[in-house]
Amino acid sequence: MACTSDFSGLVRGKGFLSSDLSKRIQNGVGWTPTNVQITCFDSIADSPYGALGDMVLWPDPETRVETMLPDGAPMSFLMGPVTDLDGAPWECCTRSILHNAIETLRAETGLTVKATFEHEFMLSGGRGSRGFTLDGFQERRAFSDALVETLGAAGIEPDSILREYGPDQMEITLPPTDALKAADQATALREITRAVARALDTKATFSPLCAPDIVGNGVHIHFSLWDAEGHPATHDPAGQDGLSPQASAFIAGILRHANGVTALTAPSVLSYERLVPHRWSAGFNNLGAQDREALIRICPVSAREPDARARQFNVEFRAADAAASPYLALAALLSAGTIGLRETLSAPAATTEDLSLLDAKSLADRGLARLPQSLEEAIAAFEADETLRACFPDRMPAIYAAHKRGEIDHVKDLSNEELFAAYAATY
Ligand code: GLU
Ligand code: MG
Repeated sequence: MACTSDFSGLVRGKGFLSSDLSKRIQNGVGWTPTNVQITCFDSIADSPYGALGDMVLWPDPETRVETMLPDGAPMSFLMGPVTDLDGAPWECCTRSILHNAIETLRAETGLTVKATFEHEFMLSGGRGSRGFTLDGFQERRAFSDALVETLGAAGIEPDSILREYGPDQMEITLPPTDALKAADQATALREITRAVARALDTKATFSPLCAPDIVGNGVHIHFSLWDAEGHPATHDPAGQDGLSPQASAFIAGILRHANGVTALTAPSVLSYERLVPHRWSAGFNNLGAQDREALIRICPVSAREPDARARQFNVEFRAADAAASPYLALAALLSAGTIGLRETLSAPAATTEDLSLLDAKSLADRGLARLPQSLEEAIAAFEADETLRACFPDRMPAIYAAHKRGEIDHVKDLSNEELFAAYAATY
């Protein structure tokens, strides 16, 4: 199948015969512009395209996944950019948007980003094992082995897999790699995880929140900066909180544009039930050290030797979830980070306390605020943020906002129970 990860964060595309692979790489497959307005519930949001227009989706051989599921079924797909018939990147192609963000950062600063996505998800059919236990790990051993094997055959080697804290919750992390590849792999990982679970008669869901009273499924995006010579550029032992001036500027850009960024990283109605204090996700627009509720967390480094420390040093953005296309989520971070570098911003000192205990004045004095508390609020912030919007193709923010409003509209009359079920079924 030739695939694109779209505004709904789902992977859609068209199948073709394996024997036609080289032909399809050469000629692409046809794609319909209005498809980008198919919401995660298959309703169609307002589309500027209507029934008009034709696009081409180009399967990129670099992204090829060729693997075998535990039930013996093959799984083969390729991601790729969508262009118009003349080959120009399409305004709503998430992969081209990320590609452009990478190139803008490189052209303006010489820097590149290495990233990885840490995914949490929940499996059905558990018998109530406890978080982080060996017992819980063993309960899912067959699943984990099958997942690692299926990923491995697709050339994706996980860094770790664990039985997370939430009920029947698992977490899997891949090693860091170049930004575009990291997004390709995150996309493949979600698809393969769901397919492996299905083949083993269980169900995996990455829904941001599966029930009101439990922890959510986060997608934490780790990233680091690298200079043009391939040297690590995130760490400076003499810098505030160990950050280099470039990393400080990059982070400050994300903090300044956090509200608009969340529209792209946490883009479901339920995302905002997760992004509240005391869910170990992120509630405020802060940089934090040793704080698993910070929007951006400076991650601990275990290496002792200075060069190794510099290479290990990375930060983690916590207000993302799997309703977001990995391409758009990473593009939002790179774009806001590039703004920070362009404007030579500096990040404030990292917070180290529970911000939910501070009163409104103390927060405001330190430039701290709650993140958006609904998808509508986040979308409105993205629309209002001219500088962030300008990092994306002209019409994309308006089309994206219409998509998300279509999603909001689709769920507005659902009961709480139906809402959770709908998102769990989708993601
Ligand atoms: N489940 C938490 C979230 O929604 C993250 C827990 C952790 O790994 O720190 O982001
Ligand atoms: Mg976790």
